[in-house]
Amino acid sequence: MKQAPPPAQDAGTARQWQNWSRTVSCLPARAPVAASLAEVREAVAAAASAGEPLRVVGAGHSFGDNVATPGTLLSLDGMKGLLDVDAQDHRVRVAAGTRLWELNEELDRHGLAMINLGDVDRQSLAGAVSTGTHGTGAGMGGLPTLVEAVELVTASGEVIECTADDPRLLRAARLTNGALGVVTAYTLRVAPAYRLRERLSTEPLDELLTRLDAEADAHRHFEFFTFPYSDSAMVKRIDLADGPGGAAGGGGTAGAGGGEVRSRTEVAPADHLTMAEAVALGRADPSRIPELNRRLSASVGVHTFEGPSHRILISARNDRFVETEWALPCAAAAAVLTEMRAFVESRNLPVNFPFEVRFVQGDEDSLLSSSYGRDTCYIAAHVSEGIEHRGFFAGLGEIALAHGGRPHWGKWHDLDADRFARLYPRWEEFQAVRRELDPAGVFANDHIRRVFGD
Ligand SMILES: Cc1cc2nc3c(=O)[nH]c(=O)nc-3n(C[C@H](O)[C@H](O)[C@H](O)COP(=O)(O)OP(=O)(O)OC[C@H]3O[C@@H](n4cnc5c(N)ncnc54)[C@H](O)[C@@H]3O)c2cc1C
Repeated sequence: MKQAPPPAQDAGTARQWQNWSRTVSCLPARAPVAASLAEVREAVAAAASAGEPLRVVGAGHSFGDNVATPGTLLSLDGMKGLLDVDAQDHRVRVAAGTRLWELNEELDRHGLAMINLGDVDRQSLAGAVSTGTHGTGAGMGGLPTLVEAVELVTASGEVIECTADDPRLLRAARLTNGALGVVTAYTLRVAPAYRLRERLSTEPLDELLTRLDAEADAHRHFEFFTFPYSDSAMVKRIDLADGPGGAAGGGGTAGAGGGEVRSRTEVAPADHLTMAEAVALGRADPSRIPELNRRLSASVGVHTFEGPSHRILISARNDRFVETEWALPCAAAAAVLTEMRAFVESRNLPVNFPFEVRFVQGDEDSLLSSSYGRDTCYIAAHVSEGIEHRGFFAGLGEIALAHGGRPHWGKWHDLDADRFARLYPRWEEFQAVRRELDPAGVFANDHIRRVFGD
């Protein structure tokens, strides 16, 4: 097996590993890059027999210390691509290290597409699924709900295929935060390639908050961003390009996925400040952030975009930030967002990124799904790199917890196992599977011990 420096992160040095937001780093003793199932088993066996921890790293896009380890940091960057395609039944088997952008391109070549996606496509498939990554769409679940089978290497080195034949195991293995073993492949449900049309506009926030459920139900994808200190929302409504405006939970059917994105400006923005300019100005003088946020809100205008689903759903994130995100019952969405904005504004906090609000269908497919058992509104908060986030994020966490919120597994939170046990109705079932598959804690690090207990 190749021994390599830790997988390339933009800001990584020779052996030091750093996450994307540059808030977590570690110095692993070993950083192998596996290219086969045999090499994964070899790495797990070596760690288990040495009594050393092993963590798997995807693209390092988690904002917490999920990945950091002083032991073995295993990358699956050598295990990528489609392993099997059933274009008739819309099912694919995918190597776990495949980046989402690579998956999207490969699916497109087969006339297929993901049923939904999050905001970006830089993550590995396994990292995204293992933390419950989601997009927006009240008629569809997060990425783990698309998983029909999981190939997992456990602490004993055994390779198990988790399928619907053993629903308890499959429900545990979809969303694991890397606590059950190394996922090497998934079988996914996908859709025929489809095209989407997006309308982006700026609207008064208070009016929007009165009709969130209706908006979420009316569109295949609906979300909005709102800056603290501004009273407007930047709203995205996305529907099938050739289909009805209503939600289409099962994926698209309209046309092929190929082609470029076409855009049209209906109303030009009133201001032309870019996010990068605002971040630089706000960093130089944080007292300007409220004014800059209001100007950014006026820098949107009204636009439509049309193109292949994976090009419309995915955005570039060029300005580095730190993020926390809470999964809430939809009925609490407006109240929680209002309290969170007041928390920032009453303390005059230098928050220069918008809140992001998204909607996802409840599921019971994963024991640890943050949308377990209820239709969910996700509210995310961000600040740009370099701005102190812990106190701000902890304050938002208290607000969310008071409304029954659950934190995103891949984003900043400070909760421990006692608290999680109260948030997840089937917590003990997951813990039992973990005790069976990893009794000695080979896949544990400080984060896993905090979140799941010893
Ligand atoms: C710019 C940006 C945008 C984002 N947008 C969204 C969004 O729109 N929606 C959303 O929900 N989240 C979003 N996220 C969060 C992100 O999707 C998750 O944190 C995801 O886990 C990152 O994937 P990764 O490949 O980088 O995984 P990593 O951060 O490297 O790992 C995440 C976890 O998965 C485990 N893991 C990784 N690979 C394996 C494997 N093969 N087997 C077992 N365990 C494994 C790791 O050990 C770790 O616990 C975003 C993050 C960033 C930085």
